[in-house]
Order: sequence, then structure tokens, then C-alpha cells
Amino acid sequence: MPFDFSFSADQEAFRDAVRSFLAKEVAPVVAEMDEKEEFPRATVRRMQEEGYFGVPVPEEYGGLGLGKVGYCIFLEELGKVDASHGTIVGAHTSLGTTPLLCYGTEEQKRRWLVPAAKGEKLLAFSLTEPGSGSDSGAVHTVAEKEGDGWVVTGNKIYVSNGKEADTIVLMAGNDIKLGPNGGVTAFLLDTNLPGFQVGRCEKKMGLHGTSTAELILDHVRLGPETVLGEVGKGFHVAMTALDVGRVSLGAASLGGMQAATAQAIDFSKNRTQFGLPISEYEAIQFKLADMAMKIHALKFMVYHAAAHQDRMGNEPKQWGRLERYDKTREAAIVKCLASEWAAEVIDEALQIHGGLGYIRGTPIERAYRDARISQIFEGTNEIQRLVISRDLLTRGL
Ligand SMILES: Cc1cc2nc3c(=O)[nH]c(=O)nc-3n(C[C@H](O)[C@H](O)[C@H](O)COP(=O)(O)OP(=O)(O)OC[C@H]3O[C@@H](n4cnc5c(N)ncnc54)[C@H](O)[C@@H]3O)c2cc1C
Repeated sequence: MPFDFSFSADQEAFRDAVRSFLAKEVAPVVAEMDEKEEFPRATVRRMQEEGYFGVPVPEEYGGLGLGKVGYCIFLEELGKVDASHGTIVGAHTSLGTTPLLCYGTEEQKRRWLVPAAKGEKLLAFSLTEPGSGSDSGAVHTVAEKEGDGWVVTGNKIYVSNGKEADTIVLMAGNDIKLGPNGGVTAFLLDTNLPGFQVGRCEKKMGLHGTSTAELILDHVRLGPETVLGEVGKGFHVAMTALDVGRVSLGAASLGGMQAATAQAIDFSKNRTQFGLPISEYEAIQFKLADMAMKIHALKFMVYHAAAHQDRMGNEPKQWGRLERYDKTREAAIVKCLASEWAAEVIDEALQIHGGLGYIRGTPIERAYRDARISQIFEGTNEIQRLVISRDLLTRGL
């Protein structure tokens, strides 16, 4: 019985409800959103109204209370429909609400988490800077003490939801020379404050519905109540958020892989060459079999990791050291394999579509462009391999 990998009736009902909602409300707008490269405000609003921006957040804080497993069910279904919407939800929920849930005071939760989970406010997460990408602890944005508050100055880049967010979970250096161990603090920065400005928004290969924004911080004054967690412990806050983000990225990738495979199966049965549907050829059948194997394996990995995080709960002070290491290693493994398998599966699905797969505007062409970023953001796969191998060399398998 300890290995009972099955969803409850309530979880299956949630999946069905999400699937119907997305088919009716989100799927019809995706092609136009991708072509126009516009943030999908109307569908984001509808998803917020349904509570889908607070799926894992407990009900007492305005969420649906469905935990990480429920959240991954949601992202898996969303991943089947559109990666841009998935990224918008992920930046808000994994990277925005997790830090509040795990490190926020009761007052911070009431002020920032409740409206975020209810879908009244949008969150973003900002760690990356021009000089600090993979070396994410090397932040140059400065938070100087002024009275009991802080003055924040610097430049952040590549912030998903950066143009639209009401509040940013922002990492800044309280003492830059200390680096990630003591020198980085997490702040809750409302984007209507004087000194805050959205800079350049990137044009991208994929994820055309998302904003990827530069943030310019020119002496933004923050009160003491905006410090999230302890001063100097912001790197822990960021890494806790990324552990959740990496597993949920796996769920969204899983959805993308299933959609691409379903499209490839359908196409192969309907495309006739040399007098037979191409699905009759072994070369195509074996590709489909390889795709199915990856989907099957990833499903177990994603939900194993999500259930593990649910069992650990949202109180970092109660987590043992080894438990933390296990969680981080597992999240890195899921992120790395999910993003690479998604790229492989979608590439094969495109190949099965032949020339049509390369034509702008087909779902498989969009999926191919959208999937590539998953090997880069939330920590590149080289960094995931560093995380996994360092832990392996310290603790063993
Ligand atoms: C669309 C998009 C959305 C994003 N959203 C967010 C967001 O919401 N919030 C946020 O904070 N950031 C965000 N990012 C930033 C993203 O997380 C970074 O781009 C990523 O972590 C890599 O950093 P970098 O681009 O500076 O690459 P670099 O760190 O410069 O890496 C360049 C290459 O060197 C490799 N490399 C670096 N160091 C090592 C090493 N020690 N060993 C081996 N290889 C190494 C990398 O793996 C990579 O292949 C986003 C980026 C994009 C493109």
C-alpha cells in the first residue's frame, strides 16, 4: 500500500473541470495570442476568477487548497493547451505565492498572499540580473538600510509577468560582499511605488503570451514589513520557490508532451503516403512508442515529487536538513529530465508531421518554440546537473 500511485475521486473531478474550462475558454485564444505576441489578459482574468491562480494555497489564505499534487494536475492540463498561460501561472504561483506561504508573517500573508491566491493581484519573481544568471547569488541590486526601512536600487532582467505584476518577490543585496550566504534578502515590492519602472520587454522565440521584462529600481523605498523571511536569508527563500517551480515545470512539460504525442498519433493515422497511413510504418510506430515511454516515466516522477512536497508542508523550520536536500535533488532531476524529454518528444512529434510541422501557426510548431526555454529558465540544465552531482558526491545515492 505505500506505493499507491493513484488520484483521488476529487482530484480526478478537478482534472475534468480544468480540462473543460481550458477547452472552452483558453484553447480558442492561443493561436491568436501567439501570433500577436500579447499577454492574454482576458483569459488570465477568467482563470483568476476560477481560483486557478491559487490552486496549492490553503483555503484559509484564499486558495483552492489542493496542494502541490492538485497544482501539478492543473499545470499538466494547462501544459496540454498552452505554455504561455502555464508560465504566467507558474511565475505567479510557484515563484510568487510559495515564498509568501513558506516565509511570510501572518500579516504579510493577509496583505499579499490572500489577494494573490484569490486572483485579485498578480505576482512575479525577480532574481536574475544582467551580471547574475546561473550565478544567481551574485546579485548587484542593492538594498541599503534607511531608518527601519530600505532603499533599493538596481536593474533586474528577464522577469516573467514583470510588466503586469502588482507585486514582485525581489532579491536584493543587503550586503553584497557576503554573497548568497547572508548577503541577499527577499523583498515584497509593490510596482506602484515611486522609483519603480518597467524597462525593456524582450521579443522571444516562444512563450509569446508572456512578458519578459527588465525592472529598473531607482531608490525605491520599502518599509520593514516588506522583508520576506530573515534579512540575509533571501537565497533560501528563492531556492524554496525554485524547488516548487522545477516540479511544476515538470508537470507543464508533461502536458506539452502528451498534447504533442496525441497530435502526432492523430496525424499519423490520417496522413497517407505510399498507399498507407504513415502510422503503419514501423519507423513512425517506434517514435510513438519512445514518446509514450517518456510520458509514462515522467508522470510518476512529477507526482512523486509533488506528493513529497505536500507531505513536507509549508513550514521550512520543520524541515530536516536531509529532507531539504532530498527535495532539492528530486526537483532538479524532474526539471532536467522533463525539459529534455519534452524537447525530444515535441521534436519527434514535429518530425511525424513532416513539412506541416514546420509551418508557422500549427500547434506543433508553437509547442516546439515554447518548449525550448524549459532547459534554460528556473536554472539551466547545466546548473541542475551541478545541483544533482554535488549532492550525489556529498551524500551518495
Ligand atoms: C523567457 C524567460 C523567462 C525568465 N523568467 C525569469 C523570472 O521570472 N525570474 C527570474 O529571476 N529569472 C527569469 N529568467 C532568467 C533565467 O532563469 C536565466 O536566463 C537562467 O537562469 C540562465 O541565466 P543566464 O541567462 O544569465 O545564463 P548564464 O548564467 O550566463 O549561462 C550561460 C551558459 O553557461 C552555462 N553555465 C553557467 N555557469 C555554469 C557552470 N558553473 N557550469 C556549467 N555551465 C555553466 C549555463 O548553463 C548556460 O548554458 C527568465 C529567462 C527567460 C529567457
